Amino acid sequence: MASEVNVDEFALIRRYFHGLTPTAADVRLGIGDDCALMSVPSGFELAVSTDTLVAGRHFPLSTPAYDIGWKSLAVNLSDLAAMGATPRWFTLALSLQHADDQWLAQFSAGMRELALMHDTVLVGGDTTRGPLNINITVMGLVPDTQALRRSGARIGDLICVTGSLGDAALALRLMQQDQAEPDETLRTRLDRPQPRVRAGLAMRGLASAAIDLSDGLAGDLLHLLGASGVGAVIHTADLPTSAAFQRSCRPSERLALQHAGGDDYELCGCLPP
Ligand code: ADP
Ligand code: MG
Repeated sequence: MASEVNVDEFALIRRYFHGLTPTAADVRLGIGDDCALMSVPSGFELAVSTDTLVAGRHFPLSTPAYDIGWKSLAVNLSDLAAMGATPRWFTLALSLQHADDQWLAQFSAGMRELALMHDTVLVGGDTTRGPLNINITVMGLVPDTQALRRSGARIGDLICVTGSLGDAALALRLMQQDQAEPDETLRTRLDRPQPRVRAGLAMRGLASAAIDLSDGLAGDLLHLLGASGVGAVIHTADLPTSAAFQRSCRPSERLALQHAGGDDYELCGCLPP
């Protein structure tokens, strides 16, 4: 067998991804041709973002296939949420060592569940042999000029986040450094982040700037501040903290995990008081 996936494997993969999500009126042509064709309604802008997940880098190797499918789409939808865009379509470029039937069934089920929750259609992709690597491109719609950019924050704005911080980073720390099993709540925050799509839509017209938190509040907020040309003061005692985090976190590690841990996938928005 050459380095390309063979015919049987293509058949396998088609089975999982063709029809993964129900089609929609705005998809003129879905999986099966050289390109997908979608219609963008007038009065809207097309929001596009892409993110790659590398096994062992962006998720622990022990992550269940279902959760890998979920998380790959979730981190991409989070970018649309941060723009205030409504998710519509996505493509999936998948690099796999083997076309393992059970793995694909679980992976696609996790991806499908989240796609259905957000009414998002898989319209195409690519499949190659190689180390496990998942690249998704998401596309969404936002009414003309209403997208939430990073650059609009103003002096006097409040800095708001949509949920507790540090849970996913704590789960990863417990697993990797303590070889401990984090409690269910923390593990779910790491493996199945909930993209804050509804919050992003609600912030349209209210927030002056927004960003999603993938690398940790400190770093991501700096991107927003840099784009806006303003500074900020953070009262670290006020960072939203979950009960599960409080139960399992050593006090000396709290701040590092909450402001620089990463994988929160909450939105950070700046709003006039
Ligand atoms: P091409 O050689 O023209 O790139 P492919 O054989 O790679 O075509 O793909 C055939 C069709 O299957 C295309 O419509 C493509 O979008 C779709 N496809 C391939 N791999 C995937 C995947 N992992 N997820 C979704 N669609 C896929
Ligand atoms: Mg191809």
